[in-house]
Amino acid sequence: MSIKIVELHKKIPGQKECGCGFPHDKSLRVLLYGDFESALNYLKEFNASPPYAIICDDTTYALVGKRVEKFLEAKAFIITSKYFNEQYWENLLAKRNYNTIIGVGGGTVLDMAKYLSYIYNLTYVAIPTAPTNDGIVSPMSVIFTEKTGRRTFKAKSPSIVVIDYNVLSSAPWTLIASGIGDALAKIVSIKDWELGRDELNEPYCKTAEYFLVRAIFLVLEAIASLNKNMKKSEECVINLINSLLSSGIAMMIVQSSRPATGSEHLIGRHLELNFGVPHGIASAFGSIIAARAHELYNPSWWKENILSSSAIFSYCKQSEILSILRSYQVPTNKLIESVIIGKTYRPNRYTILHKINPTREIAIKLLEDTNLIHELA
Ligand SMILES: [Zn+2]
Ligand SMILES: [Zn+2]
Repeated sequence: MSIKIVELHKKIPGQKECGCGFPHDKSLRVLLYGDFESALNYLKEFNASPPYAIICDDTTYALVGKRVEKFLEAKAFIITSKYFNEQYWENLLAKRNYNTIIGVGGGTVLDMAKYLSYIYNLTYVAIPTAPTNDGIVSPMSVIFTEKTGRRTFKAKSPSIVVIDYNVLSSAPWTLIASGIGDALAKIVSIKDWELGRDELNEPYCKTAEYFLVRAIFLVLEAIASLNKNMKKSEECVINLINSLLSSGIAMMIVQSSRPATGSEHLIGRHLELNFGVPHGIASAFGSIIAARAHELYNPSWWKENILSSSAIFSYCKQSEILSILRSYQVPTNKLIESVIIGKTYRPNRYTILHKINPTREIAIKLLEDTNLIHELA
């Protein structure tokens, strides 16, 4: 089958051309669209050379990993715990001469593969099995260890990403809806970054902005296809994965999560940590609230109706994000708390929450204005 090749590094202008002072990292060289087995023929051409180590879990091994292992005569390592065990990997990886790590999976597996590629300085290829968050390309990994719990570490963006619609569309809808939520969050995060630029003189990058706006445009396209009853259609899934990749590219360019995570992620974090709400679902909830806060307190908020808090609310309803969130039965009091204490999760990243420092009254008003208090009751 034919493969569509997008040489991404050629589409990113250099640091000087942009004039921003950010690194303009171009680790991600190429995106390969098509069936993954055909895509594997291109690895060597783009400098991903053997021997290959495949990182996957039981599910993604059965789905994709096993065939990759056979096709490339590679060695697959199956992750059985979310906790990172340095000694285990030291024994398996460092003492053998692998050149390339191939991550096959969703969030947790890819985060681990990305981190391992960084610490052992190996070429990294990502084969995402679900369009569930924008961490596929970002230069950091969320890693759990027995000692430190959840922490974010520096990692390495993949050189190659393989995008296979048949693999991605086999993901359960909850994972896809979560990806939609994480992509919608960019409507807010970009405005928080602008706030930092305008009020605190924070550095800003127009190229990263371009990729963020593109991410927003693409997720709205993905949602528009839901209107036509095209759930999991190629149009929906490919627009969504492209949106998440685009957001990841923005983070890669500036080597920071600043462009793609703002107040909305901080509000969502509370629900993630305390109720196990999936990342993108929690961030979507945060996006509706934070968008309303921007509408009330930030004169530079979007003027377009399609980017208003009520529009984000309806996107979340259409894509079943709100019904998924409702199933976690988060008490109203905790929803209110998430808005009040959100900023404490990242005191030094300036957002609308840090600007307005919401009281309980403001938090309730935001939840009422957006109708979330009733929707989730
Ligand atoms: Zn996110
Ligand atoms: Zn720049």
